[in-house]
Amino acid sequence: MEFKIILYFILFAIFSVNVEANFQLIKKENKDSNTTLLVIGGVHGNEPGGYFSAAILATRYKIISKNLWIVPNLNKESILNNERGVNGDMNRKFSAINSQDKDKKIVDEIKDIIVSKNVSLVLNLHDGHGFYRKKNQGSIFNPTAWGQTCVIDQCDLKEDQKFGNLNNIALTVKENVNKKLIEKHHSFNVKNTNTKYIDEQMQLSLTYFAVTNNKPAFAIETSKNLSSLSQKVFYQLLAIEEFMKIMNISFTKDFQLDENNISEIIKDYGTLTINDNISLDFNDIKKSLSYIPIKSKDNIFKFSHPLGDLKKVGGNYILYVGGKQLTILKPQCFELSNECPSKFDAIVDGNSVSIDAASAFFVNSDFKIIENEDFRVNVIGYQKKGYYNESNLTIKLKDFNRNFSVDNSNKVYRIEFYKDNKFCSISMVHFK
Ligand SMILES: [Zn+2]
Repeated sequence: MEFKIILYFILFAIFSVNVEANFQLIKKENKDSNTTLLVIGGVHGNEPGGYFSAAILATRYKIISKNLWIVPNLNKESILNNERGVNGDMNRKFSAINSQDKDKKIVDEIKDIIVSKNVSLVLNLHDGHGFYRKKNQGSIFNPTAWGQTCVIDQCDLKEDQKFGNLNNIALTVKENVNKKLIEKHHSFNVKNTNTKYIDEQMQLSLTYFAVTNNKPAFAIETSKNLSSLSQKVFYQLLAIEEFMKIMNISFTKDFQLDENNISEIIKDYGTLTINDNISLDFNDIKKSLSYIPIKSKDNIFKFSHPLGDLKKVGGNYILYVGGKQLTILKPQCFELSNECPSKFDAIVDGNSVSIDAASAFFVNSDFKIIENEDFRVNVIGYQKKGYYNESNLTIKLKDFNRNFSVDNSNKVYRIEFYKDNKFCSISMVHFK
């Protein structure tokens, strides 16, 4: 447990999500390079294989040479609602878009990024129906299926365009992915939509917009009919790694690419900090938490997970990673004090310790927060009545009302610090 928490803080230190923005653009860059791969996840909000793959690229890959740009959550609102497009199909708005369209700002912004001179190649990630086959072999395996394909709009771009031989690149990716299949029927193919001549619908798409601006672009479609999200992400990452090899982008990652590891990584929802004075662990959190001391407005929510997001409903905050609702925060509004101590003293299991504000600490038997005129302590769930300031009390797990725990095993509780009537921070006590 202790190790896990520390790891989250390390990840958090290198990465945090701005919930106000339309979407995230995460840049992993090296000096002196003009080669950049742009990976876009989440144009369709109900295709988690694509957007979880982009999130894992953001958090678990290190780019050693050349550049990787990642947009994990292009269609944020649709991801939250697990819908293809809450404002219609965003991937049909890249040729023309109505000035009143709610997606216009997002589409305009990503178009600017696609045509920016840094970008050398674009990947648009999807989960598609069935398994593409050139010949009809039933309702799942047929020429109209999209799953397990590298999709191109045409074979080539202008003759001298770098990475402009789309067909050759897609064939190489397909061949290499097919060496690592989990099951034989997962085989990848190249699907050429021949957009310019045949496919009017695809003329409205993101990749066709890129190609008509002479930017090499591909869609990677893993199958919606694969048995698990981890299989979809596995194939997306396999294919993306092949593109990086073709572009001579060297990278390392902190895990081995296999289905089991992916499955573990997907389950890790990371942490949320609010106003830099409250930190919540999303991997073990109750369905709702009440009386969370935050400001009436302008709160700063920082998710360590690139797909972390929130909805404000009736004064409460519903928190998500991807389309999964993790908890509801019911706030109690406070002003924040600017006279807060950065540390406090405590006795933990008989030992004197100094603990950083807004951090977590771990207890076997009991703890006591040492009284200090700089703050008042409120131990949330402490059952003995009659204390305005709950410092200088030796407290055990049995002293808590478990309804007030933060976690599902009723072992983590909030210790809130106040200065006068203003809020300072929460520390989490974890009973082992
Ligand atoms: Zn799609």
